[in-house]
Amino acid sequence: MHEASVALSLIEVVCEVLEEHGAQRAISLTVRLGEWASVVPEALEAAFPACAQGTPLEGAALHIQRVPGVGECPTHGPIPLNVLRGLRCPECGQPTPRLLQGDELELEELELA
Ligand SMILES: [Zn+2]
Repeated sequence: MHEASVALSLIEVVCEVLEEHGAQRAISLTVRLGEWASVVPEALEAAFPACAQGTPLEGAALHIQRVPGVGECPTHGPIPLNVLRGLRCPECGQPTPRLLQGDELELEELELA
């Protein structure tokens, strides 16, 4: 399952941070997840506890912050994109191939024990 491998790589990143800080455990973590990151937040939440078992993140709470997609229209500039409509300006329909935000999956906050 894709989300399980996402959860595992998240845990790996967090473990590195813990090590840097000499911390034993994390209580909670907040992750910024773009709507275009092709990760289903519910699936990630569901996969996380099992993946965290036996790691310093066991029992930690996972919070997910959704980041909406923003594209760049040649006419309208930065504009929020509708995931269902694809990489097109919702105003004029021009393709907006570049995402300014919305494809991120990054650690935003980490609460250490
Ligand atoms: Zn436009």
